[in-house]
Amino acid sequence: MKLVPALAFTSMAMFCFGQTAKAAQASRPNIVWIFSDDHSYQTIDAYGGHLRGLNMTPNIDRLAAEGMRFDRCYVGNSICGPSRATLLTGKHSHQNGMLVNEGGVFDHNQPQFQKVLQANGYQTALIGKIHLDGAMQGFDYWDVLPGQGVYNNPRFITAAGKNENQGYVTHIITEKSLNWLKNQRDPAKPFMLMIHHKAAHRTWIPAAKDMARYEDIEIPEPPNLFDDFATRTTAPRTQDMSIDKTMSLDADLKVGTPKNDESFPAGQFDARKQEFQKKSLTGKDLVRWKYQQYMKDYLRCIWSMDEDIGKVMVTLKELGLEENTIVMYSSDQGFYMGEHGWFDKRFMYEESFRTPLIARWPGKIKAGSVNTDLVQNIDFAETFLDLASAPIPADMQGRSLVPLLKGKTPSDWRKSLYYHYYEFPKPHHVAPHEGVFDGQRKLIRFFGEGIPNGEEWEYYDLKDDPAEMNNRYGRPETAPDVLVMKKELSRLKTLYQVPNEKP
Ligand code: CA
Repeated sequence: MKLVPALAFTSMAMFCFGQTAKAAQASRPNIVWIFSDDHSYQTIDAYGGHLRGLNMTPNIDRLAAEGMRFDRCYVGNSICGPSRATLLTGKHSHQNGMLVNEGGVFDHNQPQFQKVLQANGYQTALIGKIHLDGAMQGFDYWDVLPGQGVYNNPRFITAAGKNENQGYVTHIITEKSLNWLKNQRDPAKPFMLMIHHKAAHRTWIPAAKDMARYEDIEIPEPPNLFDDFATRTTAPRTQDMSIDKTMSLDADLKVGTPKNDESFPAGQFDARKQEFQKKSLTGKDLVRWKYQQYMKDYLRCIWSMDEDIGKVMVTLKELGLEENTIVMYSSDQGFYMGEHGWFDKRFMYEESFRTPLIARWPGKIKAGSVNTDLVQNIDFAETFLDLASAPIPADMQGRSLVPLLKGKTPSDWRKSLYYHYYEFPKPHHVAPHEGVFDGQRKLIRFFGEGIPNGEEWEYYDLKDDPAEMNNRYGRPETAPDVLVMKKELSRLKTLYQVPNEKP
């Protein structure tokens, strides 16, 4: 709904000012931000990839068909809590203080975009997963999962305290969001609604009604499911996030000892358990079987969320909000769908560094458009503020995507991205690393405990090695490019005010 100021016009000048302000405010769009957890671009049909053709995401695909798909959207630190901290602050982890999930503490008192939106006349709401402990600030309404939350019968927390819910978490988040849109928001104000799903986070528990989906098909394997890391350094060789060694038969694949968790629907996996016990699988056969179950559970979680995105779009239309609302879809980072033999995220390799971003805004974004500029999650906060014609704090580190949405990328748009991962050694033994990417060339420096001589480098040229299988750091033919990228890394560290060594 539009905000119409009641101004008394005492002169022609005031009249003109009033008309301009009125027009500017009337044009301010509502923002619906739909954010999932661990949703890989490989499992969105609109993004193609090795899973193309499965019909995984019809409603997200529709957003892309009616809006813009960003093909080079990346995160600055590929992990849940830190990604959300960046979303709210518009700053890299070292600037907002949220470096890691385990033991990370988010300072809610720091500046965040939603506080500015709120001060500039927007109604703000956050529903679902935020994974930042403590009371949210800058939201007129918030109803969030504690920590990771659970898939069935989840508890939520609001400013007033806890609330218990019966049912499947994705649908509960959607119901709460639709209820807010229909019954709780103030129609006199433009709004920012953040719908934050738990799906498709580990342990990938689908809704019971979706268990038969994909049951009779074979999910295509990535060509590097059995990566031998022949040219790679210590960090990827010593990680603990493989389907083979790390993915558990109990909680992850649901065929072992029933989990001591009352929200776990043990009976939902009885048929799988019986089938598994008959098979006596080992070695690569076991990895392949695990991959199939993992992918199917993951895709079923995505299916529920995609269905619910469809419900949000129907409700926006019913409420007459479809035209003046920008709907954006993204995830807190990407995820490995068996590439390199992995699940999880963290590494600066494409599958987890990159994340989906799609935006639909009728009359403003050209339908079916594709953007290939380098954008990053530090840009989201400034984009929201720009959409709302609100002031952008000078210390935010990204850039508004609004010109890009309108098909007009500024000539001085960034040409490279900075990345920095911190969490080590638990839970997945991925060594800290930082790096730079220019859209084709990627330079990564792993460092710290467990890395021989304190640091190791990798260099990839994605033009001829898109799966990042050939580390070509240290080869004479790549030396000039490596030098250029080292200088660029140094420039970005100065630009973003990164502390020189481990924070
Ligand atoms: Ca995540």
